[in-house]
Amino acid sequence: MNSFNQLQLLEPLQRAVSELGYQSPTPIQAQAIPHLIKGRDLLGCAQTGTGKTAAFALPILQRLTLSQRRPKPRKARCLVLTPTRELALQIADSFRAYGRYLRLSMAVVYGGVGQSPQVRACARGVDVLVATPGRLLDLMGQGHIHLDKLEIFVLDEADRMLDMGFLPDIKKVIGQLPAQRQTLFFSATMPASIAQLAGGMLTEPVKVTVTPAATPVESIDQQVFFVAQSDKRALLGFLLKSSEVARVLVFTRTKHGADRVVRQLGQIQVQAEAIHGNKSQNARQAALQKFRSGRARVLVATDIAARGIDVEGISHVINYDLPNEPECYVHRIGRTGRAMAKGVAISFCDAAERTTLRDIERLIRKAVPVVKDHPYQMAPPSQPRQDKKGFNRGKKSRSNWRHAHGARTAA
Ligand code: AMP
Repeated sequence: MNSFNQLQLLEPLQRAVSELGYQSPTPIQAQAIPHLIKGRDLLGCAQTGTGKTAAFALPILQRLTLSQRRPKPRKARCLVLTPTRELALQIADSFRAYGRYLRLSMAVVYGGVGQSPQVRACARGVDVLVATPGRLLDLMGQGHIHLDKLEIFVLDEADRMLDMGFLPDIKKVIGQLPAQRQTLFFSATMPASIAQLAGGMLTEPVKVTVTPAATPVESIDQQVFFVAQSDKRALLGFLLKSSEVARVLVFTRTKHGADRVVRQLGQIQVQAEAIHGNKSQNARQAALQKFRSGRARVLVATDIAARGIDVEGISHVINYDLPNEPECYVHRIGRTGRAMAKGVAISFCDAAERTTLRDIERLIRKAVPVVKDHPYQMAPPSQPRQDKKGFNRGKKSRSNWRHAHGARTAA
């Protein structure tokens, strides 16, 4: 399937995707859309970056249009439940973009901001409601939203929802849904707990798996740099001297770590923004906007804050710290190389992180190539120990790495 007009989408939807520059459906779109427009349930094992949002948004918009019902006051016809505010906003934006030539109403509800505008947006009823669980339950509890007339339910990023402790909330929401409905269930990974949750919600679902669980997309060039913790800051500065390292998402394990990296980059005149759970919703949006517009070259994020961030053209993901959970590595590096663009994922690995690296390599079933030629190289522990901490810090030599990556001359 190489063209959208073979998918039997309504003309206004085809016009919208063609104006967005989409030429052919991604694999998940080609596999899911024909079933979803017929009303089937779906179990989708797919990570962000595969074109998953359009795979569900296009057929949903089509079904809501063709059934010609109108939303009743304070009721939603379709609910998309997603773990984070950023994702909710992005999904709502996608629905608006794909549905721009249709007459459907949309609202997005999420916590951390005042509820009045969201209540007003739902007052007359909405065709598509995109929501995070906590705020949705608040509004339902106050009688501002009812789900008893729901036609379509989408549970997005189910694995992440469970990681974030949303299972009780999800169950409460599901308890309010009519039995007769279409359900779409998406998760990047499919451990037993997720499969069990899906099993209870879906009726004879079509199963679509793109990019097998926990296998990074082919287009990402993965590299690991062995480096002492104390040299990570200098190594990051060194890598950022390369002009090819253009739009960079840096991951740290902690919120304080993220703020620290932003401060350190500021000292070497690199514009960076941090995004994490201690920041207000407005501050997060402002940071994202600066990064999207290119005013900030680097966005430093913690895992939860970065989940699903959809920014075009992230050239590099840098794991300043390796994640504790190997599956997190796959989510992180999926932020680059999206929609078939080539991306680079660089991981810093200190002595304490070697076990984590081995776990990641076991999960992705391949060894991540080691870049040895850089000034802060730390030899494997089996090599002669050279410094008082017991690590071989390596020679701070001129490196070919920056030539290979098109760097400007190091200062
Ligand atoms: P998603 O996995 O839904 O987050 O989508 C990842 C990115 O791919 C988004 O920036 C979409 O705009 C883009 N995208 C989705 N479908 C297509 C397509 N068929 N052709 C080109 N880009 C697409």
